[in-house]
Amino acid sequence: MSACCSWKDVFQYKTNRVTQIYSMSYGTIKWIFHVLVFSYISFALVFDKLYQQKEPVISSVHTKVKGIAEVKEEIMENGVKKVVPSIFDSADYTFPLQGNSFFVMTNFLKTEGQERGLCPEYPTRATRCSSDKGCKKGRMDPQGKGVQTGRCVVYKGDVKTCEVSAWCPIEEAEDAPRPALLNSAENFTVLIKNNVHFPGHNYTTRNILQDLNITCTFHKTKNPQCPIFQLGNIFQDTGDNFSDVAIQGGIMGIEIYWDCNLDTWFHHCRPKYSFRRLDDKTTNESLYPGYNFRYAKYYKENSVEKRTLIKVFGIRFDILVFGTGGKFDIIQLVVYIGSTLSYFGLASLFIDFLIDTYSSKCCRSQIYPCCKCCECCAVNEYYYEKKCESIVEPKPVLKYVSFVDESYIRMVDEQLLGRSLQYIIGEEVPRPLMDFTELSRLPLSLHNLPPIPGQQEDIQLLNEQGTPRSGNVPDWCQCGNCLPSQLPESHRCLEELCCRKKAGACITTSEPFKKLVLSRQVLKFLLLYQEPLLVLDADSTNSQLRHCAYRCYNTWRFSKQDLADFAILPSCCRWRIRREFPKSEGQYSGFKHPY
Ligand code: GDP
Ligand code: ZN
Ligand code: ZN
Repeated sequence: MSACCSWKDVFQYKTNRVTQIYSMSYGTIKWIFHVLVFSYISFALVFDKLYQQKEPVISSVHTKVKGIAEVKEEIMENGVKKVVPSIFDSADYTFPLQGNSFFVMTNFLKTEGQERGLCPEYPTRATRCSSDKGCKKGRMDPQGKGVQTGRCVVYKGDVKTCEVSAWCPIEEAEDAPRPALLNSAENFTVLIKNNVHFPGHNYTTRNILQDLNITCTFHKTKNPQCPIFQLGNIFQDTGDNFSDVAIQGGIMGIEIYWDCNLDTWFHHCRPKYSFRRLDDKTTNESLYPGYNFRYAKYYKENSVEKRTLIKVFGIRFDILVFGTGGKFDIIQLVVYIGSTLSYFGLASLFIDFLIDTYSSKCCRSQIYPCCKCCECCAVNEYYYEKKCESIVEPKPVLKYVSFVDESYIRMVDEQLLGRSLQYIIGEEVPRPLMDFTELSRLPLSLHNLPPIPGQQEDIQLLNEQGTPRSGNVPDWCQCGNCLPSQLPESHRCLEELCCRKKAGACITTSEPFKKLVLSRQVLKFLLLYQEPLLVLDADSTNSQLRHCAYRCYNTWRFSKQDLADFAILPSCCRWRIRREFPKSEGQYSGFKHPY
């Protein structure tokens, strides 16, 4: 069973290993970041009160409009037009509306004395006619005012229109009077009562204070808490002209914003008023500008039902109440602090980015050829090496090759292999820095081995044997010491590798090769180093020493264990080792995959 089932694994804790870099510049960058992040977090915490539990407001609104207007109405008396002044008070010009709105009439068109009957339509393109053929009995035009009777009658002079059954006389499609009849409505005042409640905090308040001076009028700066607004001033605030809007009507929003701090030590809960024109002032005539509706006053005259139709233009005021109430909440505070902790990682993110970006590559590519930059890049490269250990996925097809005349290691994908390993280009991998610590552990006496007479001779003898033997040297060999592979045809190319890329001296002739890879004493010592009480019996000694020599060679040439495991020995080294520690019977099996 897997180890995760054991209790021991439950009671464990994993932590990350970190690299601590002592650097003036990076230390400074870190502190700058930390100070900036900390200042921002503290500022946002205090300024936006992020330690508070916020609740939306619920509210009720009540309005009262006051003011008197004198209207000069034109009326016809005995066929003569007369201008009669009449007084309008709040009952005349305000209309009850649903929701948080109130309406103030500013202009109107009256059609008096209408009663049900037959009369000619108001002339338009659709209603004009020249004979009865132009009209149709029973037709109801959505734009019209009644049901057509099918007759074409005189409207006025020689203008003829279709007769309709409707409220007669038909309302005339006139333009709204200019200037507006109730232009003086700009002096009207409205008192807005607004009660608000924050259910989560169980707190109720209102916009009218106990000590309110009821004669005040709202002013943005001088009297911002007064709940009595003069209509003209509201329009001034939004940059509109009341007299212009009064002609066609419009919609104005009164926004009441409650940003309440309900903490006892900073208690503040007063509304802020602002205004916003809500209808589209840019709409042209054809798109029904302004705001109007019709209403009728009904009465009876000689037991005939009559009405006065009034097309009312005016301003609808919508009161929009919004805002939040906040109160200290420990959970909010903890959540906020928790959510900001990650910002402290910004410093490492940025510094890591600098190290990664400005390490070796930039210097090599000479983008920044100046000395200072190169120095900086070298330092970064050093940090990079210390902090980052790169591992390549141990794919069974991956092999490493090292040529003694090249400063890097080549990573080869075996799948690409179809010809000698010698010719595969592969990918360049930097050669890891030599780690001498292991080597220095070898007892000093081994470093300065006195030449063992027999072996020394052997080596020299073999060396002579190893010199080019023109007949047997494969064509891919560059050192003259390689031999053809013993492996079956299909695997042969894996062993067709020389110690060099270009012609020259063979690595097997080098001093370290002899001392490290071929020295029986060193290899024996290494086997014992691994297994102190190992008894080397005659049969297996050579095999063990040979395998140890392979490892020795690879560890020497590839430095890192993960590379060494997948490294392929050059043919010359392989055969030189085999000659030194031969196998008495059978064939050598060659490279076997470690995983
Ligand atoms: P054997 O002793 O008859 O099995 O034959 P060899 O002398 O070829 O040794 C085989 C062992 O050495 C196996 O464990 C192989 O994995 C290892 N070996 C042989 N050649 C290579 C090589 O090129 N690279 C590595 N890393 N190991 C090798
Ligand atoms: Zn060779
Ligand atoms: Zn060689």
